Amino acid sequence: MAKIVMKFGGTSVGDVNRIRNVARIVKSEVDNGHQVAVVVSAMAGETNKLVGWTKELSPLHDAREYDTIVAAGEQITAGLLAVALSAIGVSARSWLGWQIPIRTSNMHGSARILGVETKLLNERLAQGQVAVIAGFQGIADDNRVTTLGRGGSDTSAVAIAAALHAERCDIYTDVDGVYTTDPRVVSKAQRLDRVSFEEMLELASLGAKVLQTRSVELAMLHRVPVRVLSAFDEDPGGTLLCDEDDIVEKNPVTGIAYSRDEAKITLLRVPDQPGVAAAIFGPLADAGVNVDMIVQNVSEDGRKTDLTFTVNRSELDRALSAIQNASPHIGYKDLIHDANVAKVSIIGIGMRTHAGIAQTMFRTLSEKGINIQVISTSEIKVSVLIAEEYVELAVRALHSVYGLDAK
Ligand code: ADP
Ligand code: ASP
Ligand code: MG
Repeated sequence: MAKIVMKFGGTSVGDVNRIRNVARIVKSEVDNGHQVAVVVSAMAGETNKLVGWTKELSPLHDAREYDTIVAAGEQITAGLLAVALSAIGVSARSWLGWQIPIRTSNMHGSARILGVETKLLNERLAQGQVAVIAGFQGIADDNRVTTLGRGGSDTSAVAIAAALHAERCDIYTDVDGVYTTDPRVVSKAQRLDRVSFEEMLELASLGAKVLQTRSVELAMLHRVPVRVLSAFDEDPGGTLLCDEDDIVEKNPVTGIAYSRDEAKITLLRVPDQPGVAAAIFGPLADAGVNVDMIVQNVSEDGRKTDLTFTVNRSELDRALSAIQNASPHIGYKDLIHDANVAKVSIIGIGMRTHAGIAQTMFRTLSEKGINIQVISTSEIKVSVLIAEEYVELAVRALHSVYGLDAK
């Protein structure tokens, strides 16, 4: 008898009929003789609504209360699915994060899972009871509810699968797998049968929200076999995350990701001398702002230069005020920013061995008249920052030029 973890996202549990559909899918795995733990998200739109109410009451709210509020969406779905399963004769009960417990750090709003207690879960699973677990939540050592950051139910599912030594973790969503790019933007995107952990990590962290980045890290670390598949189609399709060595044909570019959550900040005429980067990025780190891409211009006179970097759009105000507060120590002439930017990235393990990949990207964007504002690269990806209005055009053009379009 194998243990399996199944996770259903917001759209898949979006209304009562969809929850009935999920109950049927779960029942079929129970009928196959498996011990099943199911992780659920809040019904589509619920988390946004809860976040909205919190911010409306106070933009500078207590992060612990934020977690108390937004964790509620998953509680409702877990209860509803347990009821739906019982109604079709499947023994089931709901579990909240603290009841298992799923222990996390106390970084409220973006907590990390530290451990999943399996004793109680295993007892019930062994009795043939389906565990319906509220995703996205845990409990910190301050004895308060935490949440794992947006999209965090994926991470709950993989962490639970790792702790239970489950045979696999199936992530059911509203698309039938991981595609070469967001299928909602490029209709010619193709489903990948397999994608390496390394590539999936880049795809996720560069904007493909089909899996939360942390869930991919955990899957890679604990060697959890993860599949992404459809909760809606008769044929659920599926993409398997696997090791790089298990991929025979290494295309130069496997996928394209984009992110609109970007903002660009430029400091004009900062002193070109040792210590300036530290004077800029130190206060940003202290303010909890993550800096992503960075470019420093060559100074014409050897004395002053311009420095540009990007941050998450939601952190723009915090970043600007951190820089302004530190301005006496930095010494710049002007501080400018632009939130109408987006990042487009090409990803592929084949980049390690193929030359000229980046050049093709730059040429393709220039042929479309798209200006590249900042570039960053790693061994298996190239990212560019462009004006937000050109994102879709850029993604489509790159998808074609790298031969990813479906025939
Ligand atoms: P869930 O609610 O099930 O967690 P999400 O909305 O978080 O679902 O993630 C699924 C969505 O991810 C899809 O609807 C799709 O628009 C988007 N997406 C972005 N990039 C990709 C990609 N490369 N492959 C598949 N889906 C992608
Ligand atoms: N409901 C949470 C969110 O919308 C977590 C999840 O769906 O994975 O971010
Ligand atoms: Mg998601």
